[in-house]
Amino acid sequence: MTNSEPARTTRRIHRILVAVVLVVIAAIAAASGYESLASSSSTAASPIDIPRGEHRVLRSEHRGALGEADGAVPDGTTVFDDEIPAVANLDPALLSALRQAATDAADDGVEFFVDSGWRSPEYQEQLFREAVSQYGSVEEAARWVATPETSAHVSGDAVDIGPSEAATWLFEHGAEYGLCQIYSNEPWHYELRPEAFDHGCPPMYADPTHDPRMQQ
Ligand SMILES: [Zn+2]
Repeated sequence: MTNSEPARTTRRIHRILVAVVLVVIAAIAAASGYESLASSSSTAASPIDIPRGEHRVLRSEHRGALGEADGAVPDGTTVFDDEIPAVANLDPALLSALRQAATDAADDGVEFFVDSGWRSPEYQEQLFREAVSQYGSVEEAARWVATPETSAHVSGDAVDIGPSEAATWLFEHGAEYGLCQIYSNEPWHYELRPEAFDHGCPPMYADPTHDPRMQQ
């Protein structure tokens, strides 16, 4: 019985991916006006630029229709900006840990900025559509951007911290605050892992496709 589990799981994932593809195709067709606008923009990514993270996808997002109420983050946003929904809607424990870490990092001359925090399901859906468009397939996009159903950003449990100096500071000190990098390919993406206080951060997943939470 258990021997068939991996195959069954693979088939299940495959079915989900097929369903997502169909949804994405429909969404892209519906948003063709938006897409043509994006492709005519001088800021649209060229294929050469594609290897990039979810927060960079988000940064290219200014042309989109969704705004701060959906989780768009203005440049210069910090973990102390309560008036920004992307910050205010984070899990209170995560936000508290981030503020403690940011305060201590400032003593080391390192400033934290929020590249992305909480996102509405609509915003996440748009990001995923964009990622499929940029990466060329649902499978590759899933390595970088979660669906609205699985994203820890949508539930308020994840934050993308920049610049790289801040992410490096968190990599070195985050466990003291329960703040852990979760994916090897996303050095900016942090979530709260309270057990890290005592045991250090858990081993990272290579990318989100290895995370069981992403396989609903
Ligand atoms: Zn993230």
